[in-house]
Amino acid sequence: MTVKIFSVEDEESLVSLLEYNIKSSGYDFYHAGTAYQGMIDIQKVKPDLILLDWMLPDQPGTEICKFIRSHESLSETPIIMLTAKGEESDLVSGLNIGCDDYLLKPFSPKELIARINALLRRSKNKNKESILEFENIKMNTDTHRVYCCNKEAKLGPREYSILEFLMKKPGRVFTRQQILDSVWGTNVYVSDRTIDVHIRRLRQALSTTEECKVIRTIRSSGYSLDIEA
Ligand code: CA
Repeated sequence: MTVKIFSVEDEESLVSLLEYNIKSSGYDFYHAGTAYQGMIDIQKVKPDLILLDWMLPDQPGTEICKFIRSHESLSETPIIMLTAKGEESDLVSGLNIGCDDYLLKPFSPKELIARINALLRRSKNKNKESILEFENIKMNTDTHRVYCCNKEAKLGPREYSILEFLMKKPGRVFTRQQILDSVWGTNVYVSDRTIDVHIRRLRQALSTTEECKVIRTIRSSGYSLDIEA
């Protein structure tokens, strides 16, 4: 399937430049000239990447960015903002509301394509990494949902973080201190007892069926994601 790049841009000369360079790179090019039209068409096209102009005739690019990030099926779409020099203060706000990268106008087409390629690579890897699996447990780190034997398990935020930490390195033994540093952060005082309590809750949440007993206690050292002995 061809990669779809969507540009929201009102400067006609820039649109032609973008279209030419993006098509030459083997991508499909879509375009809208206003924020309003962009929000409608983006939902239909479901692009792989969005090039977003900041100064549009009807609404600022920020509104489109917020719209995309809050829209479930679009929220992961990489966004590159295109902003004029001298609007550097916009960059911070753009990155804060969820743009992935930016280019200052005027930019070289070569640089634009390089940034597009880098972001597409990153988002491809990210999608692959968003599902963690071990035995009968599946975790989606985008939606923060956990499934045991295809049934959803309801975990508290700490339990979720502990499980995510363990699922990234199945079979490896972690000390309570390592789990603590990763989940609570360093320089926080939490007793070993607290971790044990959360591990117990995690086990309870996962153990709706026998097949989902996967947290192994390693005596006097810590815990590991493994088949319980
Ligand atoms: Ca503009």
